[in-house]
Amino acid sequence: MNDSMKSIVILGGGTAGWIAANLIATHWEDKQLDITLVEAPDIGIIGVGEGSTPPLKTFLEVIGVAEDEWMGRCDATYKVGITFRDWSTKPGFDEYFHPFLCQPDEFSVPAFFHNSFLRRQGVDLDGHPSQYFLAWQLAKQRLAPVAPPNFPFEMNYGYHFNSGMLGEFLQEWAARKGVKYKQAAVTETVLNEHGYIDYLKTDTEETIKADFYVDSTGFRSELLQKALGVPFESCEDVLFNDSAVVFPTEPDENPSPQTISTALKYGWGWKIPLTSRFGNGYVYSSKYVDDDDAEMEFRQHLGLVDSDIEARRLKFKVGRVKEHWAKNCLAVGLSQGFIEPLEATALDMVQETVVRFIEAANKGNFTDQYRDEFNERISKRFDAVRDYIVCHYRISSRDDTDYWRDCATNEKISRSLRELLTAWMSGKNITDELERQNLDAYFPSVSWNCLLAGKGILPSQDQVRPGNELAHKYDLAKIASYLEGCALNFKPHQEQLRAVH
Ligand SMILES: Cc1cc2nc3c(=O)[nH]c(=O)nc-3n(C[C@H](O)[C@H](O)[C@H](O)COP(=O)(O)OP(=O)(O)OC[C@H]3O[C@@H](n4cnc5c(N)ncnc54)[C@H](O)[C@@H]3O)c2cc1C
Repeated sequence: MNDSMKSIVILGGGTAGWIAANLIATHWEDKQLDITLVEAPDIGIIGVGEGSTPPLKTFLEVIGVAEDEWMGRCDATYKVGITFRDWSTKPGFDEYFHPFLCQPDEFSVPAFFHNSFLRRQGVDLDGHPSQYFLAWQLAKQRLAPVAPPNFPFEMNYGYHFNSGMLGEFLQEWAARKGVKYKQAAVTETVLNEHGYIDYLKTDTEETIKADFYVDSTGFRSELLQKALGVPFESCEDVLFNDSAVVFPTEPDENPSPQTISTALKYGWGWKIPLTSRFGNGYVYSSKYVDDDDAEMEFRQHLGLVDSDIEARRLKFKVGRVKEHWAKNCLAVGLSQGFIEPLEATALDMVQETVVRFIEAANKGNFTDQYRDEFNERISKRFDAVRDYIVCHYRISSRDDTDYWRDCATNEKISRSLRELLTAWMSGKNITDELERQNLDAYFPSVSWNCLLAGKGILPSQDQVRPGNELAHKYDLAKIASYLEGCALNFKPHQEQLRAVH
C-alpha cells in the first residue's frame, strides 16, 4: 500500500461489502480511486442480520441517505433498544430493557446509577433499569424515536431492516458514487513474491487486479484467511452458540420499536419487527441440542407447531481473525469474525473497521505505518463486545439445562470480564473499573449497569435495609412523569413509518 494506490477491489456483496464500498467512495471521493465490487451471485449472501445499533444512522447520514429514501425500500422500522426476557429466574427480573441512550436520559440516568449502586450496598432501592430511560417509554407506548423540530434534545436510535433489501439499496447508492460492479466467482488468489495479493482469477478465466483488496466474502474469508493465511481465533470456549433456525411470522400493524430477546432452553430467540413480517430466529448451541429438537422448541415458542412454514437453518462460527488488515488486504464483516448477534453489533463492527482503516491509511500517508495500531484497536473492540455478550450468559441464573449450567459456571471467561464482575460483586463503582480497563468506549457504563442490574445481580429483597433520606433522594414517580412527559412529543411508530415509507 502506498500513495500511488489507485484501485481497490471489494470481494463480496453482502451488507459488509456494500457498507465498505459506500464508506470508501465517500471518504476518498477526492482520490479518484477505481473501486470495483465483485460478487458471486451463486454463492449468495447470508441474508440474516436485521437489527442495528445507532451507528447505522450515522453511516447513512455520512453517505448522504435520508430515512425516506431507504426505509421504505428495506421494510425498515425504528429500534430504541432490546428487551431481554427470561434470562433471569430472580423474582422481579424476568425482563429488562437495554436502551439506546438519548439526551433526555441525562436527567434520569444519575438516579439509576445512584439507586442501583446503593442497592448493591444493601439499601432498599429499586435497581431495576428499565424505568429510567426514555427509550423504554417509547418501546412500551410503541412510539417512534423521531423528535419534532421543537424538541430540544438529541435522540439516538437504530433500525430493523431486511438485510437483502438493504444490500440492494446500498448497491444502487454505491453505483451513484462511481463504484463499479462485477459478477464473478473468484476461484484463485495469486500472491506476488512478497506474499501480497497480486491478482484474482475467476470462474470465467478472467483476472482481476487491484492495488488493495477488501475481503467481504463472509465466513469463507477467501482472501484474508484462505489466501493470506491469517489465523482465526475462535471464542467458542466462552460463547457456545453455533447455529440458528429462522422463521418469518405475520407483522404487527403498530410494532413496538424494539428487538425482543427471549432466553430458551439452549440459547435465545430474537423477534424483530419489520413492516412486512416479524423476523424470528433461535440462536443455539448444537453441542447441547440437535437441530430438529431446536427447531421444534422454537416452533412451540412461536406457536408454529402445526404450521407448514419452512425454517431456514444456519451455522456460524464465533471469534475473530488475528489481524484484520494484513499485507494489501482488509477483511470486513463475517470474514474478519463474528460475535454472535445478541446485541446486533456486527454492522457496527463493519463500519468501525472501515472508518478506522481509512483514518489509519490517511494518517500514514497511505503506507501501512499504522497497521498494527489499527489491528490492535479493532481486535480490542471485538474482545470488548465479546465480553459484554459473554457476561449475559455467565450471570444468567437459569439452570434448567446443562447448557445454562455450563454457561453460568464457565471459568474460561477473560481476565477483564472477571475483574469487572469482581468489581460489581464487591460493590465497587463499575464506571471506575471500566475506565481503569479503558473499556468505556465500547459498551458504556450504563449498558453494563443495565446488564448486571437487569439480570438481578443485586441483593435480594430479604437482604436489604431501609437506608436514610439521602439514599432515597430520587423520586421514581417524578422520573416516570418526566419521561412520560417527554414521550408525549413522539408519534406512534406506525404513523412515523407511514411518513418515511
Ligand atoms: C444468525 C445470525 C444473526 C445475525 N443477526 C445480526 C443482527 O441482528 N445485526 C447485525 O448487525 N448483524 C447480524 N448478523 C451478522 C450479519 O448477518 C452480517 O454481519 C452481515 O450480513 C454481513 O455479512 P457479510 O457481508 O460479511 O457476508 P455475506 O452476507 O455472507 O456476504 C458474502 C459475499 O461474498 C460473496 N463471495 C463469497 N465468496 C466469493 C467468491 N469466491 N467470489 C466472489 N464472491 C464471493 C458472496 O457472493 C456474498 O456476496 C447475524 C448473523 C447471523 C449468522
